[in-house]
Amino acid sequence: MNGMGNNNNAQQTAQQTAQATAQMRQQVMAAPDATCAQCGGAYFENVYKVKRISALVSPNGQETIVPVQTLRCLACGNTLDDITDFASPPVPEAAAPPVSTAEPVVKTDNT
Ligand SMILES: [Zn+2]
Repeated sequence: MNGMGNNNNAQQTAQQTAQATAQMRQQVMAAPDATCAQCGGAYFENVYKVKRISALVSPNGQETIVPVQTLRCLACGNTLDDITDFASPPVPEAAAPPVSTAEPVVKTDNT
């Protein structure tokens, strides 16, 4: 047993994680844009709603405020905090199975 094997494994895992992240990113970028149900806008900004939590239900027994992050349409100002606030996709796509028939590429150089 030497430490190098472990080190290699850790490196490989990090590489696989990076690959998975890149793959996930590709899938996200290939997905259709969600658009505002009101105007069809596709760009949003982060905004906060602030909820007042009454003393009756607050964990510390005092009235408190809780910021809740939500999205606001840049085009029309509509706030979207639920998937129903977004426009439905034009064509309901049949659930396509993720294409991942490729076997994990593990290169071993036996030199
Ligand atoms: Zn909008």
